[in-house]
Amino acid sequence: MIGMRGLDRRLPASEVPWRPGEEIVRIVAREWKRSGWVELKLQGRQIESVCERPGPVEPSPGDLWVAPAFWDLQINGRWGHSFSSPELTVDQVVEIVRAQAALGTSRLCPTLISAELEAMRHGLRTIAEACERFPEVAAMVLGIHLEGPFLSDRDGYRGAHPPAALRDPDWTLFTGLQEASGQRIILITLAPERAGAIPFIERATKSGVVVALGHTAADGPTIRRAVDAGARLSTHLGNGIAQELPRHPNPIWHQAAEDRLWASLIADGHHLDADTLRVLVRAKGPPRILLVSDASPLSGLPVGTYGAWEVHPSGKILVTGTPYLAGSNLPLGPCLGNFLEVSGEPLRVAIETVTSQPARLLGREPPELRPGAAANLILFRRPRQNHLELRQCCVDGIWHEVSTG
Ligand SMILES: [Zn+2]
Repeated sequence: MIGMRGLDRRLPASEVPWRPGEEIVRIVAREWKRSGWVELKLQGRQIESVCERPGPVEPSPGDLWVAPAFWDLQINGRWGHSFSSPELTVDQVVEIVRAQAALGTSRLCPTLISAELEAMRHGLRTIAEACERFPEVAAMVLGIHLEGPFLSDRDGYRGAHPPAALRDPDWTLFTGLQEASGQRIILITLAPERAGAIPFIERATKSGVVVALGHTAADGPTIRRAVDAGARLSTHLGNGIAQELPRHPNPIWHQAAEDRLWASLIADGHHLDADTLRVLVRAKGPPRILLVSDASPLSGLPVGTYGAWEVHPSGKILVTGTPYLAGSNLPLGPCLGNFLEVSGEPLRVAIETVTSQPARLLGREPPELRPGAAANLILFRRPRQNHLELRQCCVDGIWHEVSTG
């Protein structure tokens, strides 16, 4: 029924053809929002039609389900390649971006963390070049997420960001980075307590960039001023913070209590324990939650030490020799399972945290299964109520077998 094309790892990514087939693809599955049966027809890069079909009302574990493919606003790299590396190549960008399709993701923000300025400019230029040369990369890249360099330099709060790279917000410097990216930076994470942060947030917001707070030790009044200035998101709330905090107040409570802030959460089972995840979801309410993978550059690699970072046997990726996490190793599919388990929310609500909610935050059209929409979807089974077993992912009309990690 369905043609598949996986990644051919023998060739450089940019030499592997990446085009949808000509044939019409027909899918019959349960639809994610209402759980009724639908028949979808896809042609080329688009959904041609969606029609309701009769079928059993009660779901069974073997049923095939269909939903829009994921949007992930925080991906740092994969297979040892980092968007922040001074040696990043166009081929590596193509490889990391395309690899997301085999994890269920159709749209993403390549994310650069704090580094030497020249390395950041190189990363931004290289992503821009990959988008210019490869239309499928341009289609998948929503824009770039700059996580730094205007973050707290205090240990714990800075997480894996190198202290020497951290600095106060500087509009001229940012404009230079924006120029290197070809105006592709659409999301920036910063610490609002840094000198000059509030006017910077105003300017960035006015320029159309979404401002997020993260890696911050800010007090309540500072967080409120940042939100007044335009900040809209807490980046990976509950992480990028000291191991030990005053019980209250602290920056987690301040951000959880600020209703105007949305929150991105890493539901990989390591970054947030189940109770904390549950509390943050309740504090914010699911419509203001988006899940991100925060995929580490080491994601997809076997257990071992890779310079400054290590893939721990537990599955965590750590700054070597410390308890500090350096991004995640778990794709959004299993994170959604954790979210379902912990939150008790229905499937529709969980999937919105990785589809319509990131789209709404960015002011984009939410991904939908409707005629004329891009053929971006996942097929999955639900062997248990809170477990999504991803089978295939279609990105702009191209099918991928979903890998396990
Ligand atoms: Zn971070």
